[in-house]
Amino acid sequence: MADSLLKTANLQAWYGESHALHGIDIEVREGEVVTLLGRNGAGKTSTLRAIMGLIGRRTGSVRFEGKELINARSDIIARAGIALCPEERGIFASLDVTENLMLPPVVRPGGMSIAEIHTLFPNLKERARSPGTKLSGGEQQMLAIARILRTGARLLMLDEPTEGLAPVIVQQIGHTIREIKQRGFTVLLVEQNFRFAQTVADRHYVIDHGQVVDHLDNAEMANSAERLHQYLGV
Ligand code: ATP
Repeated sequence: MADSLLKTANLQAWYGESHALHGIDIEVREGEVVTLLGRNGAGKTSTLRAIMGLIGRRTGSVRFEGKELINARSDIIARAGIALCPEERGIFASLDVTENLMLPPVVRPGGMSIAEIHTLFPNLKERARSPGTKLSGGEQQMLAIARILRTGARLLMLDEPTEGLAPVIVQQIGHTIREIKQRGFTVLLVEQNFRFAQTVADRHYVIDHGQVVDHLDNAEMANSAERLHQYLGV
């Protein structure tokens, strides 16, 4: 079995007085695609933000490649090799596709070159000089993913990359995630769409009320409609 890349233990987080995460225990091994499933407000985004050091008050443990990061600043966490692609994608309107791509600094060797990115995302090559906002939602999502692939981060955290996209684009994103995995990257994915999650991921954690309430592998997922219905209301 591959080594653990990320391991959280009793990860808790607060927004001011509001206690959002009550103890998240997850593990992601090198080369895996793992999803966090759960209904709106369950704490999926907060889990990614807490791992990335973007919530001020957090306790417990976040170990990445064995190194404790619970008290680290987000820039140190980024340099350690974790990247977050937020739900809102963060594409800059005033920059073109290439400028958006080049924006985040390279943190480690092993990231994709622009030529490799253009092979994986031919649309981004065609639209290299288009302003970020002239792209479709799907293209913006691809750009947001491509941008973190360039940085050399080893763990890519993607927050609902399929949200609001047409089924054909969702399929393309699925293809992209499988390609990324084949190239040795590790992905932690937040999803509401468990059918999509099943097509890309190896394992799934279900989060509810700021805690992990279940853990399934893909085979179990296929036989667990009732269990998922209970958690996700689907
Ligand atoms: P969604 O899919 O709706 O984003 P989620 O599972 O990602 O849901 P979170 O966004 O992590 O859930 O929210 C977890 C809890 O933290 C919710 O109760 C939410 O209201 C609260 N919360 C999230 N962001 C903030 C914030 N900036 N300030 C205060 N409370 C917040």
